[in-house]
Amino acid sequence: MPKHPTRREFVVTSTSTLAAIAAIPVLSPSLRRDLARRDAAIIARPFDLHQVRLLPGPFRDDLEVNRRYLMGLDPDRLLHSFRVTAGLPSTAEPYYGWEAPDNELRGHFVGHYLSGCALMAAQTGDDAVKARGDLIVAELAKCQQADGYLSAFPSELIDRLKARRGVWAPFYTYHKIFAGMLDSYTLSSNAQALDVATKMAGWTRDWVQPVDDTQMQLILRTEFGGMGESLNNLAAITSNMSWIDVSRRFDHEHILTPLAEGRDELTHVHANTTIPKIIAAARRYEITGDQRSHDIADYFWREVTGKRCFVTGGTSSGESWKNPVGQLAGELAPDTEESCPTYNMLKLTRHIFGWTADARAADYYERALFNGMLGTQHPADGEKIYYTPMASGYWRMFGTPDHGFWCCHGTGVESHSKFGDSIYFHDDDGIWVNQFIASEVNWGEKGVRLVQETAFPAKDTTRLIVHVARPTQVALRIRVPYWLGGGASITVNGGRNLTIAGLRSSYLTIDRAWHNGDHVDVALPMKLHVHAMPDDPTLQAVMYGPLVLAGKLGPEPTRAGPTPPRMTPDFDGSPVTKPITVAAINAPSDDVTSWVKPAGKPLEFKIVGQEREIALVPFNRLFDARYAVYWKVTRG
Ligand SMILES: [Zn+2]
Repeated sequence: MPKHPTRREFVVTSTSTLAAIAAIPVLSPSLRRDLARRDAAIIARPFDLHQVRLLPGPFRDDLEVNRRYLMGLDPDRLLHSFRVTAGLPSTAEPYYGWEAPDNELRGHFVGHYLSGCALMAAQTGDDAVKARGDLIVAELAKCQQADGYLSAFPSELIDRLKARRGVWAPFYTYHKIFAGMLDSYTLSSNAQALDVATKMAGWTRDWVQPVDDTQMQLILRTEFGGMGESLNNLAAITSNMSWIDVSRRFDHEHILTPLAEGRDELTHVHANTTIPKIIAAARRYEITGDQRSHDIADYFWREVTGKRCFVTGGTSSGESWKNPVGQLAGELAPDTEESCPTYNMLKLTRHIFGWTADARAADYYERALFNGMLGTQHPADGEKIYYTPMASGYWRMFGTPDHGFWCCHGTGVESHSKFGDSIYFHDDDGIWVNQFIASEVNWGEKGVRLVQETAFPAKDTTRLIVHVARPTQVALRIRVPYWLGGGASITVNGGRNLTIAGLRSSYLTIDRAWHNGDHVDVALPMKLHVHAMPDDPTLQAVMYGPLVLAGKLGPEPTRAGPTPPRMTPDFDGSPVTKPITVAAINAPSDDVTSWVKPAGKPLEFKIVGQEREIALVPFNRLFDARYAVYWKVTRG
């Protein structure tokens, strides 16, 4: 059952917040089924994206690069294959890569593009981005068939699933467009998009209706993205429970049953095919109160974040979980950490936090956001990454302008449009401040605007400023992260400094009547620490506070890749692209500070006492260079 965390918590003033949360009633089954109370399972509600604005800092810089990237794409080129499929004229040159006219996933990126524009418009209030999204919706609506089908390829590709004939992932692609339409409605107020999405869902309902359960389970072996999630979302948007019934047809029991029974049978399973099935369960729980769906999502999240993730919060090697649970040391490779699973784990974590208000979920979110997501877009041109190699001696590889459009390119344009989406959550009484990102949230219902001024993580402090028209009682719950290197300290309105020791993965709550201009200063000391592989304690990554540090090993061979783009760092196979060998670290002691020293600049360090010094920098800002994240550390 959802519950407020029972872990240690420090409340600066009154305990009314905890009392209020504890008083949330357990819902009866009938109430749970009541769509009118569909969000009752949620303790901590995320703010709508349009209520949050980013202030200057690395996340806003990254967002701006993506905004330019989105607006730089040509709508007619994006729409080409849709128009051709619908029998409409198109003289535009198509895009290539996975959007090429002969690629079975063509059109998938356009769905992500719709979501990206909707997210970006909500995140920034940019009318030009909204207009771009609206244009794509309107043009795609002209391509929708009378029976609701809308795709850049003929429905024959989806029909191949029934005959079990070879096809890549047609429902995966269909879902992207479906989700893009729903996002355009919910985030960008485009009513036409909901009409298109509802018709697309109707076509899906008619397609699955004659398929018996046995055949459907066979069909579900082929990747189908977030069909279940989007159908659940449509049910919530329209208050029409029949869409839940359609979503159930996409419950892949081969994956879900073991998870419901608390068994990790994820080894050899494709990560990014799987996570959306779990997000669908999470959304189902929120809408219907179905306990089995809750248990599936809860167990899966704990298994993957606790036992199957690298130090960055990313997961998968060769796109799958290759080894038995907890065995990660053997998974380091050039094709680790496909970016889509990180995108999807962040989405799932947002749900998990909503049910639990558990700081450990926000801790994971920070880990994956700062280390696994920031840095997956090239700052020069907005190109996106596919894999993030965890093997040493490789480098980040990005797409090329006309020839990428991979899955991760698609999830990338979404991720880099919505950095404000999980900084703050709220209930009726207060706000959770989960991430330390320069931003502000406008809580209109409460008449509170909270501004967070921070240079985090370059500095280990943040200031929260409350803007209210009249004194207002609000509980500010500030996350105290797992990585804290000393006592957290807090000052209200420049008064007495209060230092709290021994509090990690928890919340520091200040519940009081705030006056306009009141401010809180929080210091969260960082320190160097290591993150060791669970199955090999001598294989260690170095962290400073929340940041993974990477060793700079020299420039990458070349940025200008061949065409088509290189899918892995070894794509062209030439000797120059081979990794370079990284020597083991000879450590004088178990204390990381015996071999890692400050380098004289904020967040920069160096490995000392070895054959040569190696510069260590935040992994999320290391581009165009070979690197190492994990080090073999031996005691000298
Ligand atoms: Zn991907």
